[in-house]
Amino acid sequence: MTNYSININITDEKIVAKFGGTSVGTAEAIIRSAKIVVNNSKIKVVVVSATAGTTNALTELFNLLNTSQTSQAKSKFLEIKERHQKIIEDISKHISIKKKEIQNILSEFEQTYLKYESNLTPDIKDLILSFGERISVAIFASTLQELSTKIKVKHLLATKIICTDENFTEANPISEKISIYVKENLLPLINEDNNENNKTNSVVVTEGFIGSNEKGEITTLGRGGSDYSAALIIRGLYEHDKNFRLLEIWTDVDGIATTDPKIVNNVHNISEVHINEAAELAFLGAKILHPLTLIPLSDVNISVYVGNSFWSDNEKERATKGTFIRKELNSPPLIRALALRNSQTVITLSRVKKPSSYGFLAHVFSILTKYKISIDNITTSEISTSFTYYDNPNIDTNLINELSKYADVKVENSLSLISIIGHKITKVPDILLKIFKILEGYHIRAVFMGASENNISFLISEKHAVEIINKLHSRII
Ligand code: ASP
Ligand code: MG
Repeated sequence: MTNYSININITDEKIVAKFGGTSVGTAEAIIRSAKIVVNNSKIKVVVVSATAGTTNALTELFNLLNTSQTSQAKSKFLEIKERHQKIIEDISKHISIKKKEIQNILSEFEQTYLKYESNLTPDIKDLILSFGERISVAIFASTLQELSTKIKVKHLLATKIICTDENFTEANPISEKISIYVKENLLPLINEDNNENNKTNSVVVTEGFIGSNEKGEITTLGRGGSDYSAALIIRGLYEHDKNFRLLEIWTDVDGIATTDPKIVNNVHNISEVHINEAAELAFLGAKILHPLTLIPLSDVNISVYVGNSFWSDNEKERATKGTFIRKELNSPPLIRALALRNSQTVITLSRVKKPSSYGFLAHVFSILTKYKISIDNITTSEISTSFTYYDNPNIDTNLINELSKYADVKVENSLSLISIIGHKITKVPDILLKIFKILEGYHIRAVFMGASENNISFLISEKHAVEIINKLHSRII
């Protein structure tokens, strides 16, 4: 029943497709990715990341400029330029693409980086980093245009869509503005030239990761932010055209796996997952999606598909592979996946020192906010409170001193958080019994359950984490 409602009017469905760094990392990858767009006329907008490794290289370039290492900065610039020249040459062996746009951006990049040396501010970092996406978009757009005469490729700079605040390097999008920009700048490009007679399909290609503040300065959404860009764009489109119902994230893995394949051998891919489960997974360290990606989609009927751009025959494989993230699922309560987060620190506050317990947590949270600590889990009793967060072992002693004004403080680290994620997992019969049987003999430091119906998490010593996750995977997944 619910699936049926998702599939009605499927022919009117419009898609935003995002291609990550490895999907545009070489000439072959770019051509393969562009063919996915050519083969699916439902794709109206394409969001492209920088080519693999480029944002790291640009960060190095920025650091070299910042510390006045001019000659090393020059070699870094040349390395980045040459890597893209090579991709362009390699594409040209297959198809003759137009290079003018790409060369323009490469020279703009050169003129820009030459302007800066030493003591640079974060806005300059975002400006330098933005060239990764700007160059890859230019290459992708030219390639796509050359592959099909049925498509009319248009480039719209993401700064004309993604409006953000001024928090350079981790900017926050302003959704109301994005909705307006989408309506004024993006939708007209998608809709013009879509002519029934000549069957031309307009495809707009834009940069992931970058945006602009209201002053028109370039900002970025934080590392890995292209997924988030794509989600913000489809959300903006959906507000004006409800047919924008599918976001495709093309990557280099076969979808979302039951756990990290680097830790467990026989993982398999999940074909379908609820958006809430996927959000838990994204936050808990499954590195497939940027953690914020699903937030703009949480209250609308937009599904996400995660596929591998390296599949040989996308049409055929797409039907059987990859992961759909949906808002409505038919499946009964079940256990779907495991996530592991190392380097967890637990702070326990006990023997509260202030006589009144009112406002105790408010004080604690304001101190945590001051130290920019984001809590993952919390458990509390009448006389003590423990919370976990991700940290390196060097805990800030000022934080501990401040907390000590309110309570006795105990810090434990080298812990791992294992999360069991599933559809209404807390309703799976005897779920805790099943888990605890497998964990027999291990010391469990804390259990977190109940806040979300999709997640049961527990803390154990880091040294047992891999062993436990393998046991759980073979017994309950
Ligand atoms: N190119 C950016 C990065 O490497 C954004 C992205 O790839 O999503 O962080
Ligand atoms: Mg990514």
